[in-house]
Amino acid sequence: MNESRFLVTDFFIVKNRMNTIKELIEVGSTRLAKCGSVSPRLDAEVLLASVLNCPRITFYSDPGRTVSFEDAEEYRRCIDRRAALEPVAYITGEKEFMGLVFQVSQDVLIPRPDTESLVEAILEKVIPQIKQNTEHPHVLDLCTGSGAIGLSLKFFVSSAAVTLTDISGKALKVAAENALNLGFSNITMIESDLFEGLSTAEHFDLIVSNPPYIPDGIIPTLQRDIVDYEPILALSGGVTGYDLYERIAREAGPYLRKGGAIVLEVGNDQEIKVAELLEEQGFGAITMIPDLTGAVRGVVAWKE
Ligand code: GLN
Repeated sequence: MNESRFLVTDFFIVKNRMNTIKELIEVGSTRLAKCGSVSPRLDAEVLLASVLNCPRITFYSDPGRTVSFEDAEEYRRCIDRRAALEPVAYITGEKEFMGLVFQVSQDVLIPRPDTESLVEAILEKVIPQIKQNTEHPHVLDLCTGSGAIGLSLKFFVSSAAVTLTDISGKALKVAAENALNLGFSNITMIESDLFEGLSTAEHFDLIVSNPPYIPDGIIPTLQRDIVDYEPILALSGGVTGYDLYERIAREAGPYLRKGGAIVLEVGNDQEIKVAELLEEQGFGAITMIPDLTGAVRGVVAWKE
Protein backbone atom coordinates (compact mmCIF):
# COMPACT_ATOMS: atom_id res chain seq x y z
CA MET A 1 0.00 0.00 0.00
CA ASN A 2 1.20 3.47 -0.77
CA GLU A 3 0.78 5.29 2.55
CA SER A 4 1.81 8.65 1.20
CA ARG A 5 -0.63 8.79 -1.65
CA PHE A 6 -2.71 11.93 -1.54
CA LEU A 7 -6.44 11.31 -1.75
CA VAL A 8 -7.89 14.24 -3.67
CA THR A 9 -11.65 14.17 -3.74
CA ASP A 10 -14.39 16.65 -3.13
CA PHE A 11 -15.45 15.33 0.23
CA PHE A 12 -13.05 12.85 1.78
CA ILE A 13 -11.07 13.97 4.75
CA VAL A 14 -7.99 14.58 2.71
CA LYS A 15 -4.93 13.70 4.65
CA ASN A 16 -1.48 12.83 3.59
CA ARG A 17 -2.27 9.17 4.10
CA MET A 18 -4.76 6.46 3.30
CA ASN A 19 -8.32 6.81 4.65
CA THR A 20 -9.66 4.36 7.19
CA ILE A 21 -13.00 2.58 7.06
CA LYS A 22 -14.22 4.69 10.00
CA GLU A 23 -13.35 7.95 8.22
CA LEU A 24 -14.91 6.90 4.96
CA ILE A 25 -18.14 5.84 6.66
CA GLU A 26 -18.31 9.08 8.62
CA VAL A 27 -17.66 11.34 5.70
CA GLY A 28 -19.97 9.36 3.40
CA SER A 29 -22.87 9.27 5.86
CA THR A 30 -22.52 12.97 6.67
CA ARG A 31 -22.79 13.76 2.97
CA LEU A 32 -25.79 11.46 2.47
CA ALA A 33 -27.59 12.93 5.49
CA LYS A 34 -27.32 16.37 3.90
CA CYS A 35 -28.68 15.02 0.60
CA GLY A 36 -31.88 13.64 2.07
CA SER A 37 -31.17 9.94 2.61
CA VAL A 38 -33.30 8.60 5.46
CA SER A 39 -30.69 6.00 6.43
CA PRO A 40 -27.36 7.72 5.67
CA ARG A 41 -25.08 5.59 7.82
CA LEU A 42 -26.56 2.29 6.72
CA ASP A 43 -26.38 3.42 3.09
CA ALA A 44 -22.71 4.40 3.46
CA GLU A 45 -21.88 1.11 5.15
CA VAL A 46 -23.69 -0.99 2.55
CA LEU A 47 -21.95 0.89 -0.27
CA LEU A 48 -18.50 0.53 1.27
CA ALA A 49 -19.13 -3.16 2.02
CA SER A 50 -20.10 -3.66 -1.61
CA VAL A 51 -16.95 -1.91 -2.87
CA LEU A 52 -14.70 -3.86 -0.50
CA ASN A 53 -16.68 -7.04 -1.06
CA CYS A 54 -16.84 -7.83 2.64
CA PRO A 55 -19.63 -8.11 5.22
CA ARG A 56 -20.52 -4.89 7.11
CA ILE A 57 -19.72 -6.62 10.40
CA THR A 58 -15.99 -6.35 9.65
CA PHE A 59 -16.30 -2.55 9.85
CA TYR A 60 -17.10 -2.89 13.55
CA SER A 61 -14.27 -5.29 14.31
CA ASP A 62 -11.67 -3.39 12.27
CA PRO A 63 -12.70 0.28 11.84
CA GLY A 64 -9.10 1.43 11.57
CA ARG A 65 -8.39 -0.67 8.47
CA THR A 66 -7.12 1.48 5.63
CA VAL A 67 -8.76 1.45 2.22
CA SER A 68 -6.83 1.62 -1.04
CA PHE A 69 -7.02 4.76 -3.13
CA GLU A 70 -8.85 2.90 -5.92
CA ASP A 71 -11.47 1.48 -3.55
CA ALA A 72 -11.95 4.86 -1.86
CA GLU A 73 -12.50 6.42 -5.28
CA GLU A 74 -14.99 3.73 -6.21
CA TYR A 75 -16.79 4.32 -2.89
CA ARG A 76 -16.87 8.06 -3.59
CA ARG A 77 -18.55 7.40 -6.94
CA CYS A 78 -21.14 5.24 -5.15
CA ILE A 79 -21.75 8.00 -2.58
CA ASP A 80 -22.16 10.49 -5.44
CA ARG A 81 -24.85 8.29 -6.99
CA ARG A 82 -26.68 7.84 -3.69
CA ALA A 83 -26.41 11.59 -3.04
CA ALA A 84 -28.39 12.00 -6.28
CA LEU A 85 -30.94 9.69 -4.56
CA GLU A 86 -30.30 6.61 -6.69
CA PRO A 87 -31.45 3.63 -4.59
CA VAL A 88 -28.62 1.74 -2.90
CA ALA A 89 -29.77 -1.54 -4.48
CA TYR A 90 -29.27 -0.19 -8.01
CA ILE A 91 -25.79 1.03 -7.07
CA THR A 92 -24.70 -2.28 -5.55
CA GLY A 93 -26.74 -4.24 -8.13
CA GLU A 94 -28.35 -6.46 -5.51
CA LYS A 95 -31.02 -6.67 -2.84
CA GLU A 96 -31.67 -9.23 -0.13
CA PHE A 97 -35.17 -10.70 -0.12
CA MET A 98 -36.30 -13.60 2.09
CA GLY A 99 -32.65 -14.08 3.07
CA LEU A 100 -31.66 -14.61 -0.57
CA VAL A 101 -29.62 -12.24 -2.71
CA PHE A 102 -31.33 -10.99 -5.88
CA GLN A 103 -29.61 -9.12 -8.68
CA VAL A 104 -31.46 -5.94 -9.59
CA SER A 105 -31.15 -3.30 -12.28
CA GLN A 106 -33.30 -0.35 -13.28
CA ASP A 107 -35.30 -2.77 -15.43
CA VAL A 108 -36.94 -4.17 -12.30
CA LEU A 109 -38.61 -2.90 -9.15
CA ILE A 110 -36.43 -3.37 -6.07
CA PRO A 111 -37.98 -6.15 -3.94
CA ARG A 112 -39.54 -4.66 -0.79
CA PRO A 113 -39.70 -6.01 2.77
CA ASP A 114 -43.50 -5.57 2.51
CA THR A 115 -43.54 -8.23 -0.17
CA GLU A 116 -41.69 -10.61 2.17
CA SER A 117 -44.82 -10.56 4.36
CA LEU A 118 -46.73 -11.86 1.36
CA VAL A 119 -44.27 -14.68 0.70
CA GLU A 120 -44.18 -15.62 4.39
CA ALA A 121 -47.98 -15.80 4.53
CA ILE A 122 -48.02 -17.94 1.39
CA LEU A 123 -45.48 -20.33 2.91
CA GLU A 124 -47.29 -20.53 6.26
CA LYS A 125 -50.92 -20.57 5.22
CA VAL A 126 -51.47 -21.07 1.50
CA ILE A 127 -48.93 -23.72 0.53
CA PRO A 128 -49.90 -26.15 3.35
CA GLN A 129 -53.52 -26.03 2.15
CA ILE A 130 -52.49 -26.55 -1.48
CA LYS A 131 -50.26 -29.43 -0.43
CA GLN A 132 -53.36 -31.29 0.73
CA ASN A 133 -54.19 -31.64 -2.99
CA THR A 134 -50.75 -32.00 -4.53
CA GLU A 135 -47.16 -32.57 -3.51
CA HIS A 136 -45.96 -30.55 -6.52
CA PRO A 137 -47.71 -27.20 -6.51
CA HIS A 138 -47.70 -25.38 -9.84
CA VAL A 139 -47.00 -21.74 -9.13
CA LEU A 140 -47.36 -18.77 -11.46
CA ASP A 141 -45.74 -15.43 -10.55
CA LEU A 142 -47.26 -12.77 -12.80
CA CYS A 143 -45.37 -9.47 -13.27
CA THR A 144 -42.37 -11.14 -11.68
CA GLY A 145 -39.77 -8.40 -12.21
CA SER A 146 -36.56 -9.65 -10.56
CA GLY A 147 -38.29 -12.97 -9.85
CA ALA A 148 -38.16 -12.33 -6.10
CA ILE A 149 -41.58 -13.81 -5.25
CA GLY A 150 -41.59 -16.83 -7.55
CA LEU A 151 -37.95 -17.74 -6.99
CA SER A 152 -38.08 -17.44 -3.22
CA LEU A 153 -41.18 -19.67 -3.24
CA LYS A 154 -39.20 -22.18 -5.30
CA PHE A 155 -36.35 -21.94 -2.79
CA PHE A 156 -38.59 -22.72 0.18
CA VAL A 157 -40.91 -25.17 -1.62
CA SER A 158 -38.45 -27.17 -3.67
CA SER A 159 -41.12 -29.50 -5.07
CA ALA A 160 -42.93 -26.54 -6.72
CA ALA A 161 -43.00 -26.08 -10.49
CA VAL A 162 -42.61 -22.35 -11.00
CA THR A 163 -43.52 -20.18 -13.99
CA LEU A 164 -42.53 -16.52 -14.12
CA THR A 165 -44.04 -14.01 -16.52
CA ASP A 166 -43.40 -10.37 -17.20
CA ILE A 167 -44.35 -8.00 -19.99
CA SER A 168 -40.75 -6.78 -19.97
CA GLY A 169 -38.17 -9.00 -21.65
CA LYS A 170 -35.46 -6.99 -19.89
CA ALA A 171 -36.99 -7.79 -16.50
CA LEU A 172 -37.17 -11.49 -17.40
CA LYS A 173 -33.44 -11.44 -18.18
CA VAL A 174 -32.82 -10.24 -14.61
CA ALA A 175 -35.14 -12.95 -13.30
CA ALA A 176 -33.30 -15.56 -15.40
CA GLU A 177 -29.98 -14.45 -13.93
CA ASN A 178 -31.45 -14.77 -10.44
CA ALA A 179 -32.80 -18.24 -11.17
CA LEU A 180 -29.33 -19.26 -12.32
CA ASN A 181 -27.62 -17.74 -9.26
CA LEU A 182 -29.99 -19.68 -7.01
CA GLY A 183 -29.15 -22.86 -8.86
CA PHE A 184 -32.58 -23.40 -10.46
CA SER A 185 -32.44 -24.77 -13.98
CA ASN A 186 -36.11 -25.67 -14.34
CA ILE A 187 -37.96 -22.38 -14.02
CA THR A 188 -40.34 -21.57 -16.90
CA MET A 189 -40.11 -17.95 -18.04
CA ILE A 190 -42.55 -16.39 -20.45
CA GLU A 191 -42.53 -12.84 -21.79
CA SER A 192 -46.20 -12.09 -21.58
CA ASP A 193 -48.74 -9.38 -20.87
CA LEU A 194 -50.38 -11.14 -17.89
CA PHE A 195 -51.91 -14.42 -19.19
CA GLU A 196 -51.66 -13.61 -22.90
CA GLY A 197 -48.58 -15.77 -23.58
CA LEU A 198 -49.84 -18.73 -21.54
CA SER A 199 -51.74 -21.69 -22.94
CA THR A 200 -55.18 -22.27 -21.43
CA ALA A 201 -54.02 -25.85 -20.95
CA GLU A 202 -51.85 -24.49 -18.10
CA HIS A 203 -53.37 -24.96 -14.68
CA PHE A 204 -51.81 -23.55 -11.56
CA ASP A 205 -52.37 -24.26 -7.88
CA LEU A 206 -51.21 -20.78 -6.97
CA ILE A 207 -51.21 -17.55 -8.93
CA VAL A 208 -49.31 -14.80 -7.14
CA SER A 209 -48.62 -11.27 -8.27
CA ASN A 210 -47.27 -7.94 -7.12
CA PRO A 211 -48.65 -6.04 -10.10
CA PRO A 212 -48.16 -2.32 -10.74
CA TYR A 213 -50.80 -0.66 -8.58
CA ILE A 214 -49.95 2.99 -8.01
CA PRO A 215 -52.60 5.37 -9.42
CA ASP A 216 -50.99 7.49 -12.14
CA GLY A 217 -51.80 10.74 -10.32
CA ILE A 218 -49.94 9.58 -7.21
CA ILE A 219 -46.73 8.57 -9.01
CA PRO A 220 -45.20 12.08 -9.15
CA THR A 221 -45.74 12.43 -5.39
CA LEU A 222 -43.73 9.30 -4.48
CA GLN A 223 -40.23 9.58 -2.99
CA ARG A 224 -37.70 10.75 -5.55
CA ASP A 225 -35.65 7.57 -5.06
CA ILE A 226 -38.63 5.70 -6.50
CA VAL A 227 -39.97 8.06 -9.20
CA ASP A 228 -36.61 9.02 -10.63
CA TYR A 229 -35.15 5.51 -10.77
CA GLU A 230 -37.63 2.64 -10.59
CA PRO A 231 -39.39 1.48 -13.78
CA ILE A 232 -42.71 3.26 -14.26
CA LEU A 233 -43.97 0.09 -15.96
CA ALA A 234 -43.65 -1.72 -12.63
CA LEU A 235 -45.47 1.01 -10.72
CA SER A 236 -48.29 2.39 -12.85
CA GLY A 237 -51.69 0.82 -12.24
CA GLY A 238 -53.48 3.26 -14.56
CA VAL A 239 -55.67 6.18 -13.55
CA THR A 240 -57.37 4.34 -10.67
CA GLY A 241 -54.49 2.00 -9.80
CA TYR A 242 -56.76 -1.02 -10.36
CA ASP A 243 -56.12 -1.70 -14.07
CA LEU A 244 -54.04 -4.81 -13.51
CA TYR A 245 -56.21 -6.14 -10.67
CA GLU A 246 -59.31 -5.89 -12.89
CA ARG A 247 -57.59 -7.83 -15.64
CA ILE A 248 -56.07 -10.44 -13.32
CA ALA A 249 -59.41 -11.06 -11.57
CA ARG A 250 -61.20 -11.33 -14.94
CA GLU A 251 -58.64 -13.52 -16.69
CA ALA A 252 -57.25 -15.80 -13.93
CA GLY A 253 -60.14 -18.30 -13.67
CA PRO A 254 -59.24 -20.70 -16.50
CA TYR A 255 -55.60 -20.89 -15.38
CA LEU A 256 -56.35 -21.77 -11.76
CA ARG A 257 -57.12 -25.32 -10.60
CA LYS A 258 -60.14 -25.92 -8.40
CA GLY A 259 -58.85 -25.62 -4.84
CA GLY A 260 -56.14 -23.24 -6.03
CA ALA A 261 -55.36 -19.80 -4.63
CA ILE A 262 -54.73 -16.37 -6.01
CA VAL A 263 -52.61 -14.02 -3.91
CA LEU A 264 -52.23 -10.36 -4.84
CA GLU A 265 -50.10 -7.69 -3.23
CA VAL A 266 -52.12 -4.51 -2.73
CA GLY A 267 -51.24 -0.86 -2.17
CA ASN A 268 -52.55 1.24 0.68
CA ASP A 269 -56.31 0.88 1.17
CA GLN A 270 -56.81 -1.14 -2.01
CA GLU A 271 -57.77 -4.41 -0.32
CA ILE A 272 -61.55 -3.95 -0.19
CA LYS A 273 -61.87 -3.10 -3.87
CA VAL A 274 -59.46 -5.91 -4.88
CA ALA A 275 -61.44 -8.40 -2.75
CA GLU A 276 -64.63 -7.23 -4.47
CA LEU A 277 -63.08 -7.65 -7.92
CA LEU A 278 -62.09 -11.22 -7.01
CA GLU A 279 -65.49 -12.05 -5.51
CA GLU A 280 -67.27 -10.72 -8.61
CA GLN A 281 -65.33 -13.30 -10.63
CA GLY A 282 -66.37 -16.16 -8.34
CA PHE A 283 -63.32 -16.46 -6.09
CA GLY A 284 -64.05 -16.92 -2.39
CA ALA A 285 -62.78 -17.60 1.15
CA ILE A 286 -61.00 -14.27 1.01
CA THR A 287 -58.41 -13.40 3.66
CA MET A 288 -56.04 -10.47 4.10
CA ILE A 289 -52.27 -10.48 4.69
CA PRO A 290 -50.84 -7.76 6.95
CA ASP A 291 -47.34 -6.35 6.49
CA LEU A 292 -44.89 -5.56 9.29
CA THR A 293 -46.66 -2.27 10.06
CA GLY A 294 -49.98 -4.08 10.42
CA ALA A 295 -51.41 -2.55 7.22
CA VAL A 296 -53.03 -4.94 4.75
CA ARG A 297 -50.50 -5.78 2.03
CA GLY A 298 -52.04 -8.81 0.38
CA VAL A 299 -55.35 -10.43 -0.55
CA VAL A 300 -55.81 -14.21 -0.77
CA ALA A 301 -58.75 -15.74 -2.63
CA TRP A 302 -59.57 -19.34 -3.54
CA LYS A 303 -61.20 -21.06 -6.48
CA GLU A 304 -63.61 -23.20 -4.50
N1 GLN B 1 -44.71 -1.16 -3.28
C1 GLN B 1 -44.21 -0.36 -4.32
C2 GLN B 1 -44.00 1.07 -3.82
O1 GLN B 1 -44.23 1.34 -2.69
C3 GLN B 1 -45.11 -0.37 -5.52
C4 GLN B 1 -45.14 -1.72 -6.11
C5 GLN B 1 -46.19 -1.89 -7.13
O2 GLN B 1 -46.73 -0.97 -7.76
N2 GLN B 1 -46.48 -3.09 -7.32
O3 GLN B 1 -43.56 1.91 -4.55
